[in-house]
Amino acid sequence: MTGKYNNVLELVGNTPLVRLNRINQDIPGEVYAKLECFNPGHSTKDRIALHIIEEAEKKGLLTPGATIVETTSGNTGFAVAMVSIVKGYKCILAVSDKTKAEKIAYLKALGAKVFICPANVPADDPRSYYEVAKRIAAETPNSIYINQYFNLGNTEAHYLTTGPEIWAQTEGKITHLIGCTGTGGTLTGSGRFIKEQNPDVKVIGVDAYGSILKKYHETGEVDPNEIYSYQIEGMGKNLVPGALDFSVVDKFVKVSDEESAYTTRELALKEGLMVGYTSGAATQALKQLSASGEFDENSVVAVLFPDHGSRYITKVFSDEWMAEQGFSNSKLNGLESRATV
Ligand code: PMP
Repeated sequence: MTGKYNNVLELVGNTPLVRLNRINQDIPGEVYAKLECFNPGHSTKDRIALHIIEEAEKKGLLTPGATIVETTSGNTGFAVAMVSIVKGYKCILAVSDKTKAEKIAYLKALGAKVFICPANVPADDPRSYYEVAKRIAAETPNSIYINQYFNLGNTEAHYLTTGPEIWAQTEGKITHLIGCTGTGGTLTGSGRFIKEQNPDVKVIGVDAYGSILKKYHETGEVDPNEIYSYQIEGMGKNLVPGALDFSVVDKFVKVSDEESAYTTRELALKEGLMVGYTSGAATQALKQLSASGEFDENSVVAVLFPDHGSRYITKVFSDEWMAEQGFSNSKLNGLESRATV
């Protein structure tokens, strides 16, 4: 490595695997975090945006001046906007009107054109962000719709990069891979590669209360009564994502908004890791799995940390927000922020 690059996209991937030392004191074996915030767009989604767009280029679907369309205001939106800028494409994102102004400003700063669509209409309503994105992609020549929940290029990006990196970084000693699932691309793409090397590795998905994934994995059914809203963004789903390869997952663990919030803050205060809410959720699952006897002294556990904590300053890192949710900071095991005013 020379530290000299031709453009920012050459920095996508090859993220560090960092050992956790304090948060897991009661857990036997070694625990590592795969720090996806080291991607240039600060999340794991840089990998899928780059892979899907470069595959479309190889197939001749995109020529100079092309347009890339997607529906998210989250990490995928940032990643698609970043890749589009560097490659000289236009980026159009259809987002819900619940999206915070701050996030829209971030997407616009990266050159994206943002369409704000009503959140309170069914997905098949012509005004929904899904339908708006589909229509824009259909009507715009020389365009592609990323459609991350159903695009197998999402899972493939992690099969080709994240999985091989973790396998090499643990020198093939990994015994457990743990990660939150939204589209399922990160966990099942990397998990599929790792299981091909060693089928005994356990791949464990993390799901939110209010999401269907755990139940669907166990029963093949979706119970609409079990769908309700929750605070952790980016994980869990109210539909079955086509990008999620359920056959790779050994089991799902459910985590709560509240415990995941404490654990996210604990990661900052105990490990110096300023990471996002789903990194805390995955670490919360690690704790629950440990309490149920999942690990022994030979365990080598890799936990996927999808993004950076800076995106959650007004949420999980805000004492006011925590109080509004009815979460109490006193549960941070005596740890407190050292800041004084
Ligand atoms: N955490 C965050 C913050 C995310 O934005 C996402 C993506 N929706 C995930 C976890 C889950 O990743 P995946 O979509 O690959 O399952």
